[in-house]
Amino acid sequence: MTVKPSEIAVVENLKVIRDKISVAAQKTGRNANDIRLMAVTKTVAPELVNVAIDNGVDLLGENRVQEYLDKKDSYVPDTETHFIGHLQTNKVKYIIDKVDMIQSVDSVKLAREISKNAVKNNLIMDILVEINIGEESSKSGTSPQMAQELVCEIAELEGLRIKGLMSIPPICEKKEQSLHYFSQLRQIFVDIRDKNIDNVYMECLSMGMSQDYEAAIEMGSNIVRIGSALFGQRQYH
Ligand SMILES: *Cc1c(COP(=O)(O)O)cnc(C)c1O
Repeated sequence: MTVKPSEIAVVENLKVIRDKISVAAQKTGRNANDIRLMAVTKTVAPELVNVAIDNGVDLLGENRVQEYLDKKDSYVPDTETHFIGHLQTNKVKYIIDKVDMIQSVDSVKLAREISKNAVKNNLIMDILVEINIGEESSKSGTSPQMAQELVCEIAELEGLRIKGLMSIPPICEKKEQSLHYFSQLRQIFVDIRDKNIDNVYMECLSMGMSQDYEAAIEMGSNIVRIGSALFGQRQYH
């Protein structure tokens, strides 16, 4: 089999990303092994995703229901997969038994639908509550002020388990600005954790993407979601 340049690039990108994760972790006295690298697959050919998996990536992030259903059988089997995109309630049923976590839960309505489908499928779905930390109208997620209340309300539902928080902060030119948003998220995470709410396990703090994952790690992220830095610029069709 011939190896394509894009495949070599993924292997090299992966090495660079892992090095940077290590450096960022060391900077704050953390163990790099505590930080999970998620490969975000939107628009990426399954063959290329599999190169990442073959090189040790054990977590995929999926944004779109249909795209995931089309691609999933071409992936290396049994790779842990989290849904990270905006999820319409009427599509929950298509993925409920096909993902290991839904990171993008931003309303009670969506959580109820997940709960209903999880019960029907006799499973417990792990979820993260998505926070719109920059309060941008273009982004999903609950406001920072409402986060705790939403967590409490969702935690009451059966068939799901709250495992932490996810966020996509505004794109910042300066690292200091990114650090500011990530530290706010860290604070919300800690505040909720300290409340010891039933059915809430504050274990996952999913923040940091290609542009800002080092800053996110410095502020306590333990899942970084990387697309373009790994697979190259996305080609939208
Ligand atoms: C696309 C996407 C990412 C990855 O973005 P990159 O900037 O390409 O790393 C991470 N998280 C979510 C929710 C995304 O939609």
